[in-house]
Amino acid sequence: MILILGGTFDPVHFGHLRPALEIMECLGADEVRFMPCRIPPHRGAPAVSAAHRLAMVERAVQGQPGFMVDRRELEREGPSYSVDTLESLRAEVGDQRPLCLMMGMDAFGGFRSWHRWQDILGLAHVVVAHRPGSPLRDPEDWISEAATEDPAILRDTPAGAVFFRSVTQLDISATAIRAMLRRGESPRYLLPDSVLEYIRLQGLYADHPGDRSARFA
Ligand code: ATP
Repeated sequence: MILILGGTFDPVHFGHLRPALEIMECLGADEVRFMPCRIPPHRGAPAVSAAHRLAMVERAVQGQPGFMVDRRELEREGPSYSVDTLESLRAEVGDQRPLCLMMGMDAFGGFRSWHRWQDILGLAHVVVAHRPGSPLRDPEDWISEAATEDPAILRDTPAGAVFFRSVTQLDISATAIRAMLRRGESPRYLLPDSVLEYIRLQGLYADHPGDRSARFA
């Protein structure tokens, strides 16, 4: 089973890494592919280049068995639609291997506005990492039909289920980290030290790159 976590990763932080590890372990997935997107279809342009975002994710996954970076969205022209990504992954792994597209509840809330969302469910399961407690009060019919809390269904079928799982809540966002860096504050302990070190060396997200060295002493 392959778990896929797409995002802008601008920058990657523990709010991405910890839920990915918890879901990987609970599903018994073989790998988690962190997939930085090139041009996010649902939001504005990232603050730093694709090359920087990729370099940060590569540092973040180092040393964790099963975690890896998949560059296919960065190498493709045009907007990063998940359905295109899953089609290309499916062609590589064959019809039978389970694929699981992981997302937070915030992202799942807008799932039906995604490009060809129904085709996505034909290609992969959707795994929703949510806060503890009931994920949805009045689930729509299509969700009720596809929903499961049984990891075995995800392991035994290649696609089509929606799996809800509560994960440790880490109130961390890339937006807040970028704002801290702009203000000259340290975001340490919100993201891996190796990523922060890269940000510091490259002078990313700072308004005044010239005097950044003092900020991370
Ligand atoms: P930004 O603040 O720039 O919007 P972000 O921190 O939300 O960024 P993204 O790269 O946009 O990060 O997120 C990729 C995926 O990770 C999304 O599915 C999102 O729901 C999930 N995610 C982001 N932060 C967290 C978090 N703290 N806990 C759980 N999931 C998260």
